[in-house]
Amino acid sequence: MTGHPAYDELRRVTPVASVVLENNPSSMTLEGTNTWLLRTPAAESCVVVDPGYEDEPHLEKVAEAAGRIELILLTHHHPDHAEGAPWLAARSGAPVRALDPALCRNAPPLTDGSTFEAAGLGFEVLHTPGHTEDSVCVRATYNGKTAMLTGDSVLGRGTTVIADLGPYLTTLRRLIEEPRGTVALTGHGPELPDVASIAREYLAHRVERLNQVSAALAHLGGDATPRQIVELVYADVDRSLWTPAEWSVKAQLDYLRGNGN
Ligand SMILES: [Zn+2]
Repeated sequence: MTGHPAYDELRRVTPVASVVLENNPSSMTLEGTNTWLLRTPAAESCVVVDPGYEDEPHLEKVAEAAGRIELILLTHHHPDHAEGAPWLAARSGAPVRALDPALCRNAPPLTDGSTFEAAGLGFEVLHTPGHTEDSVCVRATYNGKTAMLTGDSVLGRGTTVIADLGPYLTTLRRLIEEPRGTVALTGHGPELPDVASIAREYLAHRVERLNQVSAALAHLGGDATPRQIVELVYADVDRSLWTPAEWSVKAQLDYLRGNGN
């Protein structure tokens, strides 16, 4: 209990992390966007991670549960994470920090390896490009326990859309190095008990898809379109996901064509 009734009503995922689920479910956002509220039991204020869309009923709920907001953090620029930040910043007076300086308000941008303290927790930033160039994961540590805020770099279920595969593979290899039992606080879907093991699964999946795309390319010819490849490789995937699959295939083609061809 923190003595903040609206906060104590939230779903508590770790002793210092609770979540407000935005009501924006879709094939891309799963159950909706997870807005994370972090605070130690003794803290007077909260850190809010990814306020979501400029969705006033959601943002009002976040503001009420958070009480005093010390800092708003953004994992990347996509509107389902970041669009509501200016609204929440104006309402709370809290600064906004993200990797992209254009998203920041009254605070410096995040950089790889930067550390800071807020709401009683220690934070450390990892630049984790791949889903987007500006994606970060953030370690949040309290009492020797660390959780990793992953944004869309790792989702609670399924796999994420990738803009740039080479950097994404590097990101996964980096996350595999996280200590065992580091909980992943994901941007969408459920939290996961161990970020390293999910990153290992993602990497295996990416390598498998990459091999399938290579094989499809050999079969269809070198100038095959992403769509043609999706129809072969993603035949087992629900059609509503074929458009995002096309983006992923495009990233894989860029990667394959830029590497060794
Ligand atoms: Zn995203």
